[in-house]
Amino acid sequence: VALGYDEATDPSVFVRMPLVDKPGTSLLVWTTTPWTLPGNVAVAAHPDVDYVTVECDIEGGVGRIANPPHKKERLILAKALVEKVFRDEAVKVVDTFKGKKLKGQKYHPLFTFLPPDKPAHYVVLGDFVTTEDGSGLVHMAPAFGAEDMQAALEHDLPVLMTVLPDGTFVPEVTPWRGQFVKDADPLIIRDLDARGLLFRSEKITHTYPFCWRCKTPLLYYARDAWYIRTSQFKDRMVELNQTIHWTPDHIKDGRFGNWLENNIDWALSRERYWGTPLPVWECEDCKDRECIGAVADLSEKVGRDLAELDLHRPYVDEVTWACKECGGAMKRVPDVIDAWFDSGSMPYAQWHYPFENRKKFEEQFPADYICEAVDQTRGWFYSLHAISTLLFDTVSYKNVLCLGLILDEQGSKMSKSLGNIVDPWDVLKAYGADAFRWYLYTATPPGQERRFSSELVGSVVRDFTLTLWNVYSFFVTYANLDKWTPVGQVSDLSYSRLDKWLLSELNVLVRDVTEGYETYEVTRATRPIQDFVEKLSTWYLRRSRRRFWKSESDSDKQAAYGTLYTALVTVAKLLAPAMPFLADELYQNLVRGVDAAAPESVHLAKWP
Ligand SMILES: [Zn+2]
Ligand SMILES: [Zn+2]
Repeated sequence: VALGYDEATDPSVFVRMPLVDKPGTSLLVWTTTPWTLPGNVAVAAHPDVDYVTVECDIEGGVGRIANPPHKKERLILAKALVEKVFRDEAVKVVDTFKGKKLKGQKYHPLFTFLPPDKPAHYVVLGDFVTTEDGSGLVHMAPAFGAEDMQAALEHDLPVLMTVLPDGTFVPEVTPWRGQFVKDADPLIIRDLDARGLLFRSEKITHTYPFCWRCKTPLLYYARDAWYIRTSQFKDRMVELNQTIHWTPDHIKDGRFGNWLENNIDWALSRERYWGTPLPVWECEDCKDRECIGAVADLSEKVGRDLAELDLHRPYVDEVTWACKECGGAMKRVPDVIDAWFDSGSMPYAQWHYPFENRKKFEEQFPADYICEAVDQTRGWFYSLHAISTLLFDTVSYKNVLCLGLILDEQGSKMSKSLGNIVDPWDVLKAYGADAFRWYLYTATPPGQERRFSSELVGSVVRDFTLTLWNVYSFFVTYANLDKWTPVGQVSDLSYSRLDKWLLSELNVLVRDVTEGYETYEVTRATRPIQDFVEKLSTWYLRRSRRRFWKSESDSDKQAAYGTLYTALVTVAKLLAPAMPFLADELYQNLVRGVDAAAPESVHLAKWP
């Protein structure tokens, strides 16, 4: 729901959960979702946080609600939150202790609509508990929260499913059965109040997930799902990652490596209609399951050729056969597969491998190179890596170039709501694709965040493209005047010291740019060209102009032409991957214009 968070006003309630073994003492627990309280099975405390027992008057401070049967009560909460909870009310701290001391303490449940099938309603310990909000004691309803569910699995707590898939209470929750749970919040609060269990009830404005289409508030809700047990292959995924070349290299053991180290099983199924159907059939009667690996297998099951079958819903759901165990109807489970599984299957799926194209596949796999933004460490980088490890025990790519975010001129993240987005088409129209690309390649290493504005691309044109173009124009103008042509001329010239310097710089440039590309370091492959063109213009050309201007066509002039020509053609070739249009424009005139036998384009020419 990354796109669907919004501001919402919700209840903010503190409730008393009275301890079984200490009458008059309650755990003070905070929630913004009272509707989850009937599903409560435990309270979590942080083992190392300081907690206190405080004694206070029942008729307390602002916003407090009385608990009529008693005059004084004792409440347990995190020490750090005492002031926030009690505000300027005077309370007496009667005990201070670490959270781990609370472990296992039983409390009376607030509601008993659904009988727990396992021990419940006691304190568990968890590192996820914070003292930022609430009381430092966290209400756990495993059916309605990921951390809650995790705690339930760890502590073998029951899962009380008090809500139906349509968001209404189950019939067992008698007072509010059939009501949308969030609508029942005020009624639940009133009920707790009447029973003396409500400590405080206020409102809070916070961010809450909503459906991005229809704006309905979303509920966290535990559902049965299919998983791939990727955690079983964790070590191998980590090992294989060591053989991948990451740029920037800190991603390898950092963001991606950590993600692999902390691998959690892949939640594979999605309860949607569109998508790749999960190929699992289940017997309606005995629940026997079969996973189908190919259309041929499916055809065999039903005894007719299904080669023409559309493998999507609803068609694939019509395929049924008799269960081999009990004769019942085998029906496909309704789930489809997480689309990340599709993206991670790309190397095989695109060739229908291993059923076809074995040779083509083997030529192209693993990929030499992939490139995506850094957020893909949990997305495509991961799905590719996981599937190739699980199925083929190999990496699926050898080199990764990981891109940082593009920020606005001031260094803020671009966002629609801030209105600071730059439309790429405006940049393309104003300065062209070459300048746009060149800016992105030269501004910062690709892994870093970078500031961006249309004007910055404009400065590329002024500082680099026009400089190069001016040198090129100068050369073309005088070469035409002198009818100079490179054919048969470029070797065996009497070079001046300046020529030799430039050719030496050019060879260094070829070496550096080549190294930059070979190591996937984009700035190293591009920035030196900029520096070279600067030297070419302000040193070489400025100091050589007279050699081109003079009327006699002596060997010094020939050397100057030869040197400048070699430099321009080489620059065109080095520039080709990053500025394909400008590079080819130079090449077409400088090379193809005089040699019809030369490769048709700079992109087909040999690397210098
Ligand atoms: Zn909706
Ligand atoms: Zn069966």
